[in-house]
This record gives sequence, structure tokens and C-alpha cells, in this order.
Amino acid sequence: MIDLAAVELDEVAERLVLDVLRSGRLAQGPMVERFEHEFAALAGTEHAVAVSSGSAALVLSLQAVGIGPGDEVVTSPFTFVATLNAILQVGAAAQFADIRPDDFTIDPAAAADAVSSRTAAIMPVHLYGHPASMAALMQLAGSHDLRMVEDAAQAHGAVADGQVVGSFGVGCFSFYASKNMTTGEGGMVTTDDPEVAARVRMLRNQGMRDAYRYEAIGYNFRMTEVSAAIGLSELRRLSDRTARRRINADRLTEGLRSVKGLVLPSVGPGREHVYHQYTVRITADATCSRDDLAAALLAKGIRTGVYYPRPVYDYDCFTNHPLVPPAHMPCAEQAATEVLSLPVHPGLGDEEIDAVAVAMRDVLDA
Ligand SMILES: *Cc1c(COP(=O)(O)O)cnc(C)c1O
Repeated sequence: MIDLAAVELDEVAERLVLDVLRSGRLAQGPMVERFEHEFAALAGTEHAVAVSSGSAALVLSLQAVGIGPGDEVVTSPFTFVATLNAILQVGAAAQFADIRPDDFTIDPAAAADAVSSRTAAIMPVHLYGHPASMAALMQLAGSHDLRMVEDAAQAHGAVADGQVVGSFGVGCFSFYASKNMTTGEGGMVTTDDPEVAARVRMLRNQGMRDAYRYEAIGYNFRMTEVSAAIGLSELRRLSDRTARRRINADRLTEGLRSVKGLVLPSVGPGREHVYHQYTVRITADATCSRDDLAAALLAKGIRTGVYYPRPVYDYDCFTNHPLVPPAHMPCAEQAATEVLSLPVHPGLGDEEIDAVAVAMRDVLDA
């Protein structure tokens, strides 16, 4: 079976986890601090604060920059539900802006149209590991005095115009098992702003800065030492593994050129894609439907994924939600019907990538 993702931990992980187990310190401690320090170097930020998940990172970031009831947050409708959940969990309203058809990230022109007098933040999603249009979005944020909160859950180490994602404003990363680096469950908030970092630290630990002096209604969103040990080992080999993702993606692109009804991923100017997913479109011109293709590939031992089958506004729990506006976003809706993610994870070699290309051609060239 050629899978979409694989967890493959190395001996460094085993050694560091064993160090933690033998230390007798399992809850947030020195290993978490070390992981934060090293992750800040990757993100190119002054501060990094480890938390229990990417979802927790999103909630704490919004709250730490002061987003709450009465505020609107402009975001993409074509994302994992955690992006929207975080906005609603802090009591803010979502305001969607449609995506660009070429890279599936929020369209800056649509984002500009979505800004109102209540807008307090922009939350782009670096979907599939491709950075959003940060230059235009930063300009928009600057001209309307909006906070920039990046959902970088899928984009560890991705770059836009020479700058690492997660360093434009407040960055939110996930270390869920399927992401480009993992801690099992975990997340990170990155920022250059010492006050934001301090607020995230306070909120993740029950609203305390000093023991039993509560300043706000907080959470237990701490990371464990075992998770941080795994994260440190994953961080050490992230750049090698990202390089392998790129080699796999380029090879797959070569193998899939000029197939009717197949649109291959494109990389925007100045962007460095980290291929959390290698996502193609199967258009109406293809010889078979997206879902039939996925089934045919599965029968050949190749797992694929649809991220995501609907825009986030298109679920019953959100359609009548007072903080989710009714939306009809043609690009997001079309993408939801056409996208298919193919395996490129770093555990795969040339032979497996070639097998994916051959299987795709077998079905689509028929
Ligand atoms: C994975 C993911 C999240 C949530 O991260 P968790 O660690 O699973 O909580 C948020 N946004 C996007 C775009 C994601 O892919």
C-alpha cells in the first residue's frame, strides 16, 4: 500500500523519549523549553510557545492578540474545520473570502472585499504547504490595522518572498501525526511580539503567570515532555524530509505532464512549497470522475485524499450559526469537487512515485 502519510520516528526520538521517561519529569518542563527554542529558530521568530495541538495554537493566538466577541476574522472557506472553530471559540465572527484557483489559498482581492469596520484580523491558511499571498495580505492588514494570524498547520518551513511562514504575524503550527513533522498531538505559536508570547504562555497554563495568580480564564493546553522529545527529533530532520517531499513532488509532476483533465500543482512566485499535500485537480475534461479515479487508485494499492470535500460553511452546524455568514464561494466550491491529493511523503522513493504516475495514467489516459 502506498499511503498519503507515514510516521517514521528515528533513533534520536527513541533516545530523547527514553531520557524523558528516565528523568521522572513528564509534564511541561526542560524538553518543551528546548523544543520551543529550536522551533523559534526554524520559524525565524523571537518566541515560540508549545501547546497541546494546532487547534489550541489557533485559539490562543486569536485570544492573545485580543480577538473576541464583536470582532470579525477574514479567512478561507477552503480549510480544515479547526480554522473556523478557533474563530468561533473565541466568540468572533468569521468572514469568508474565496480562494485563488491556482494555489487554493485566500485571494487577497477577495479578502480586501471581505474587510468591514468590524474586521480585526486576517487568518490565511498556507494550505497543503503552499504559502498564501503574504505580500498582498500584509499590505491589506497594514492598511486596515488588522492582526495577522497565520494558520501554518500544514506549512512547517514554507517560505514566501524569503520569509518563513509563521513569522509574518502570529504563526500557528500543528504537530498532528499526519503533518510534515509530528509530536503525536501538539502545536506551536510563533511570534516576535513578547507580549503575545507571554499571553499565550499564561493562557495555556490556566491563566497563570505566577503560581496561583490568575489573570484570565485559561486552559490546560500544555505540551508534554514526551511530545517535545519527539518534536526535537522531528525538527532535526525536517529540512531533509522536506527536500525529499520536493523531489517526490517534482518527479510526480514530470510523470503526470499533459494528461487530459488533470491540473498539476503550481508554485507561486517567490514561494517555497513544502508539499504537506501534493494536490491535483480532476476537471470535467478528464476521462473519469475524481471519485472514480480515487477508487481505481485504491484498488491498485494507492491511497489518496480529498482535502476538503466541502467549504467549511457548507455543514449544518454552521449554515445557521449566527457568527458564520451565509456564503457562496465559487472557487472554493469548485475546488472541493475537483481536488485529489496524491502520495509524496518522504518515506516514498522513486519507484513508488513512478508507480503512482503509472497508475494515474492507466486510469486517465484510457
Ligand atoms: C491540522 C490542522 C489544524 C489543526 O491542528 P491539530 O493539531 O489537529 O489540532 C488546523 N488547521 C489546519 C489547516 C490543519 O491542517
